[in-house]
Amino acid sequence: MRVLIVEDEIDIAEIIRQGLIEAHYTVEVAHEGKRGLQLATERTYSLIILDIMLPYRDGWSICEELRSHRNHTPILMLTARDSVRDKVKGLEMGADDYLPKPFDFDELLARVRALIRRDRVHKGKTIKIADLEIDTHARSVHRSGHAIALTPREYDLLEALASHEGQVLTRETIQERVWMDEESYSNTVDAYIRLLRKKIDANSDTKLIQTVHGVGYTLRRAEED
Ligand code: CA
Repeated sequence: MRVLIVEDEIDIAEIIRQGLIEAHYTVEVAHEGKRGLQLATERTYSLIILDIMLPYRDGWSICEELRSHRNHTPILMLTARDSVRDKVKGLEMGADDYLPKPFDFDELLARVRALIRRDRVHKGKTIKIADLEIDTHARSVHRSGHAIALTPREYDLLEALASHEGQVLTRETIQERVWMDEESYSNTVDAYIRLLRKKIDANSDTKLIQTVHGVGYTLRRAEED
């Protein structure tokens, strides 16, 4: 699997490059934005790690341009620490995840693996998590072979959680992805989670939708705990 790193800080790029090579990825590096966009356009990658502040072309505009040309390669954005604006803007431009600097390499590797796995699952069009099956084209859901009827909003919420299997989504992130720019409140998310649990988890011994107190929600299979 080939990963592109677009990062102008040579030391950081090198740490990521070395670590990913040790984890058996093939790695290419661009130290400025124009070259990064050129590589991302001309070659196929499993994932792009994209810094925001770059010479010639910033990460946001690279992300936006790739998405506008229907390039759906997963993008992990490196953001300034605690910058909500960076995170939100990156997601708006089509990034799949973000990691604040400075970060532990292990955390970055976990994100890289999750994004690549998620991309593979999504390309399969059916998301299977334990006995839960989601057909993302038909927008239909089965648990243990039984069809579950969901409202469009419940479905969107379930797909958002399932496509980030094992990753904790904050209420804020869920709002952004499921409710887009519509007005909503964090208790709306909680209310929809309750509805979804009744339909997805109530009749099963294995509860897939988990609350992470003080943070948000995650959908994960029990054996990963
Ligand atoms: Ca930079």
